[in-house]
Amino acid sequence: MPRIRRVATISMHTSPLDQPGTGDAGGMNVYIVEVAKRLAGRGVEVEIFTRQTGRDLPPTVELVPGVTVRHVTAGPYEELNKGDLPGQLCNFLSGVLRTEAAYDAGHYDVIHSHYWLSGQVGWLAKERWGVPLVHTMHTMAKVKNLLLARGDKPEPVARVLGEEQVVEVADRLVANTATEARELIDLYGAPARRVEVVNPGVSLQVFKPGPRGGARERLGLPPDAHVMLFVGRIQPLKAPDVLLKAAARMLADDPALRSRLLVAFVGGLSGNGLARPSYLTDLAAALGIADVVRLAPPAPQHELADWYRAADVTVVPSYNESFGLVALESQACGTPVAAASVGGLRTAVRDGVSGVLVDGHEPREWAAALRTLAERPAWRAMLGAGAREHAAAFGWSATAARLLDVYAGATARLHAPLAARL
Ligand code: UDP
Repeated sequence: MPRIRRVATISMHTSPLDQPGTGDAGGMNVYIVEVAKRLAGRGVEVEIFTRQTGRDLPPTVELVPGVTVRHVTAGPYEELNKGDLPGQLCNFLSGVLRTEAAYDAGHYDVIHSHYWLSGQVGWLAKERWGVPLVHTMHTMAKVKNLLLARGDKPEPVARVLGEEQVVEVADRLVANTATEARELIDLYGAPARRVEVVNPGVSLQVFKPGPRGGARERLGLPPDAHVMLFVGRIQPLKAPDVLLKAAARMLADDPALRSRLLVAFVGGLSGNGLARPSYLTDLAAALGIADVVRLAPPAPQHELADWYRAADVTVVPSYNESFGLVALESQACGTPVAAASVGGLRTAVRDGVSGVLVDGHEPREWAAALRTLAERPAWRAMLGAGAREHAAAFGWSATAARLLDVYAGATARLHAPLAARL
């Protein structure tokens, strides 16, 4: 297998330096940072190309030794949203090509692009540099459009076409789970031999169990509350409304619970503009449960670990998740998860072992599942133990090692004689 020395990672629409959990930054940002660090730890240099989104950002930033973030100027800095970025692809690509041209030829061994916009850039860079393109979708328009939440907008045709083109040209498509691999094959016609399943991971050094009391004290949460936690960007796709409506039902059925229940949300608004800033407070007020709801701004990962430790259950009612890192992080901290039985969450959570999977998005069903968890502390403790064990099997080092194999396989195939490639 060829040795991989340098990887060009492309993340056009969101920077690995951004705070995840708000705007356009989420699991993909965490993925790119964690994988890059682990690759650097194995002696592989990683350069991450992202768009310059502020006048004051330096052209390059060293994330850790061996990992460089390169800011590429493409369009105005602050005023663009994700929907405007297809118009900046040429501009961004030319910045990427100019960077490589300043090196000796053959600087990068492989390109790994993330999300379809970056895949488009990777497509042309791959042809120019003669290296393989490995692509990860993270989310796919056709899947999203099949599972639309109420209030969500269908993804545009331009994205569907753009994704189809990336599927056609990529040397390898990395799917987070077997479910995503099937979607690539069935919905996008990807040849199975080019699809590789590589599970994402969790930082087990950051997300580890710890005393609940201490975590609650640090966060200012009551020691005896029953805490149901939601972590992530506030957007219809993640169904925070389902959690609020389920909580309202739980209180209607059992008014005594009011003195103990706390529903906590950690995260900011998504960059897609589909939820207004007062979305959660308005809904909580309309449901008459504003007194049990607490909102917290996006938190850095070490603080998030405290939120998971403080919670009795983490609730992930999303309409779709290609994986759902939040579910894994919570479990690594020993807190069981109640998740929607969709997409990658079916891999991230082991039903009845590390949490519960709930079918559909009916608040009634969610209230029933959450009530059972609230009423049975011994079962929660058992699921908490199962959660720790389940999460321990997912480390970022394993993800990086698998990706290196995928990179090497793609490179070997590219340089194989034509007959072998066919
Ligand atoms: N996150 C964070 N701070 C927050 C909220 C979320 O760092 O306040 C991180 C969280 O730790 C997780 C990621 O954002 O790693 C969200 O990833 P997930 O796969 O759950 O959802 P996505 O954002 O990809 O839809």
